[in-house]
Formats: sequence, structure tokens, C-alpha cells
Amino acid sequence: MKTQDIQAIQSLLATPKKVAIIPHRNPDGDAMGSTLALYHFLNKNNHEATVISPNEFPDFLAWLPGSEMVRVFETDKENCTQILQEADIVFTLDFNAFHRVGEMEKVLEVLDTTYIMIDHHQKPDDYAAYTYSDTTFGSTCEMVYNFISFLNQKDQIDKTIGTCIYTGILTDSGSFKFPNTTGDTHRIVAELIDLGVENTKIPNLLFDNSSYNRLQLLGRALQNLKVLPEHKTSYITLSQEELDRFNYVKGDTEGIVNYGLSIKGIQFTAIFIENKDEKIIKISFRSQGGFDVNEFAREHFNGGGHRNAAGGKSEVSMEETIAKFEKLVHNLTL
Ligand code: 5GP
Ligand code: MN
Repeated sequence: MKTQDIQAIQSLLATPKKVAIIPHRNPDGDAMGSTLALYHFLNKNNHEATVISPNEFPDFLAWLPGSEMVRVFETDKENCTQILQEADIVFTLDFNAFHRVGEMEKVLEVLDTTYIMIDHHQKPDDYAAYTYSDTTFGSTCEMVYNFISFLNQKDQIDKTIGTCIYTGILTDSGSFKFPNTTGDTHRIVAELIDLGVENTKIPNLLFDNSSYNRLQLLGRALQNLKVLPEHKTSYITLSQEELDRFNYVKGDTEGIVNYGLSIKGIQFTAIFIENKDEKIIKISFRSQGGFDVNEFAREHFNGGGHRNAAGGKSEVSMEETIAKFEKLVHNLTL
């Protein structure tokens, strides 16, 4: 981060401020972890901070400290709009363009406030007065740790803030195995553990709390897995009808996409999940090695993300979406 930006933010935060903190729509562990870490840090420093999530966050994150204080824009539009309009500062975390917040975009576009972006996605928009954007980081949580350090307030990081930061580092690094996991990542984690962060309990809270239905849905997804060995590619589909049959709740499909990469020799995978309410097929892409799924999602499926993990959407039927995907894959050399 630029020294002059750090100094400017330090003087901004020298007096108590009203602050809104926003994760992207359908927030994941990193989006919730980073916003809540910053929330606890700012409130500890006499600011009046509020986390506003564009829509509901999944249940498997509901144990995060402070999650009970998170406002949800889609179910509380008037109050959330008012908080945003009154905010001196609005932090946008773990996303890089207003369209990632869905409906809330309309409110953000016309706000008269100071935006600060902390994010690790490619090609950030330039709406923020201060932008801390760096795609070399595996998680926004790691950047929030740095951000607090830049402000010379690392000693403020306690077990609560550390728990939030640890959660995002863990989830966005695929439990420390994705390529952006560095020595610094592990050094930060070591410090967090020394602060009392429960590094063996948190994975349990995150990953070992499936419902029976979720596992049945996973079984169905694995049965639907299709492999295109000559293209080192695999993909999974889940129709709305299948989601309904297993009483799908938000969060149930989290992580399923990764199974497609666990097959020997597969370098590119995708999951296509039908959403009848939104009339879209939501897509997640994953790759290992050089293939850039961010570019692929951006170019063909109205999305984006990172080199090895990205998302997008399609507004045609599942059949047409799959036909388009297979055609594209046939022209790829992986
Ligand atoms: P996931 O597949 O887990 O939803 O997302 C993987 C990565 O891609 C995350 O960093 C997420 O923020 C990003 N991503 C997911 N969907 C979209 C999208 O529609 N547009 C953009 N720009 N990024 C996305
Ligand atoms: Mn992230």
C-alpha cells in the first residue's frame, strides 16, 4: 500500500467515524472473515462500524464472532441504505467492482463517501479513494492483517480479530494448499495461533458441520460428474430440481467444485448450478497449473475471479450452457 495512502487513512481514522464494511454478494469465508475482522478492529478503536452483507451469508459461517451483528441489505433495505448514506467511510472487501454486490450497487454508485478497497481480485475498478489491491495474496484476510499492521496497530489484533482473519486465510487457501500460500501466510497464522486462535477447532466448525441432505446432494453431484480426459477437464451439474430434492440451503454446494480437480490428470473443472429464482446458471471454475480461469470466466461467462478459481453465470438453459462449455473446452489446449 502507498505510504501516502496509509498516512491519509491514519488521519481519517484519528477521530471516531461512522464506517460501513461490505463483502461481496454470496459472501464466503474470506469475505465474512475480512469484514468482521475489520469490524472488530474499528469498533475497538472507537469507531461505529457496521458490516452490511448484500444478501444472507451461509450458515456454516454463523459462528464467526460478530456475525449476529451483520446487517443484510436484501432483507433490510431501508436501514442499510440509511447506514450507507450516513457513513463517513465505506470499506469494500474481497471484491473489486460494484456489480459484485447485486442490488446494492445502485446505492453504492451514488454515495457521497470515502471508499477504501481491500481486495485480491484481478482488474480492480477505480471507485475507491484508497485502493489496497494485490492479486499475489491468497486472501483478503491476509491483507486485512497487513492493513492493520500498516496502521501501526498490529498489537490491537486479538483472539477475536485473529479468529476472523484465520477463517478467511484457511478457506481461501483451500486449507493452505493453493499457490498463493506463502511463508508470510504461515508466519501470520503462527502469530494468530499464539494469540489463542483455535486453529484445530475452526476447520471443524467450517467443514464438519454438513447436514445429511448436503452429503446426499454431494453424492448426486459426484454421480453427475463428467470427465473429458482428452481435454484434462471435468464438470458437474446440479439442476434446481436436484437442489430441491435434497432440501438445498445456502452453503450446501460450497466446495463441491473441487472434487472435479481431485481426479488424476484433470487440470480444469467447473460446476454449473441452476438457480430458477434468478433465472441463471451460476458457474464456478477451478484449475491447477497455468490455465487462467479468470480470463476464461471473463471472456465467456460474464464473470471473473483469480487465475485458479473464478466464477461466472449463464442466462441460457443448462443444456445450452453445457453445450457452449464443451465447445469451448474442445478448442482448449491444456
Ligand atoms: P466461487 O466459485 O467460489 O464462487 O468463486 C471463486 C472466485 O471467483 C472468488 O474469488 C469469487 O469472488 C470470484 N467470483 C465468483 N463469481 C464471480 C462472478 O460472477 N464475477 C466475478 N468477477 N468474480 C466471481
Ligand atoms: Mn477472497
